[in-house]
Amino acid sequence: MTISQRLEQVRDRIAAAARSAGRQPDEVRLVAVSKTVGADRIREAVTTGQLVFGENYVQEAREKIDSLAEDRLTWHMIGRLQSNKAKQAVSLFDLIHSVDSLKLAQAINAAAARIHKVQSILIQVNVAGDTAKAGVTPEAATDLVHDADALDHVRVIGLMTMPPYFDDPQRARPAFAALRRLMAEINAGRDAGGRLTELSMGMSGDMTAAVAEGATLVRIGTAIFGGRS
Ligand SMILES: *Cc1c(COP(=O)(O)O)cnc(C)c1O
Repeated sequence: MTISQRLEQVRDRIAAAARSAGRQPDEVRLVAVSKTVGADRIREAVTTGQLVFGENYVQEAREKIDSLAEDRLTWHMIGRLQSNKAKQAVSLFDLIHSVDSLKLAQAINAAAARIHKVQSILIQVNVAGDTAKAGVTPEAATDLVHDADALDHVRVIGLMTMPPYFDDPQRARPAFAALRRLMAEINAGRDAGGRLTELSMGMSGDMTAAVAEGATLVRIGTAIFGGRS
């Protein structure tokens, strides 16, 4: 299958999962995860109308963004980000999904202030308590959302999670449901203008379970671009 056929299949699966959960398909945005994927294959995805891409490494992203030179595209940082890369990240990405400490949020804030930007971010939460995964505990998430959002050049617009891999994607569902409930709890304590709206959850193996539980951003790599070596 070509990249464009795969993309179509992924979009169909997301739309079907949304409808069967009583949601509108356009409530779910597809982030095509292009780590390790070269610019030529990204261009193929762009020709089918895919304009949002996710990258894990700042340097790799910078090279591709430069070589594609496409103003229509938006880029999301989905991988672990070190504070000393915040300056580059702020210059490249529309959304940073992986903020899991106040120190990182402060570094992003300082970098964004220098270029007069308000950087949109998500707080990454380790809902399953999986020690191998990044993210703050659900207990710490509420405070981090509040503290990061108080920074002038950072706007927290939602939460992200990455549950452990399961052969049966239905087993990831409780983690997705937990993230949705956590966002509802956080929003209950905020006024209308400050509510979080984005839930970044679901990858190639578990996208339909994530959409069923309310994902607004799904991060899909291998189902679009094939396996990474
Ligand atoms: C690589 C990656 C993805 C995409 O994973 P696939 O299984 O290839 O769809 C999603 N989110 C994060 C954080 C990733 O690192």
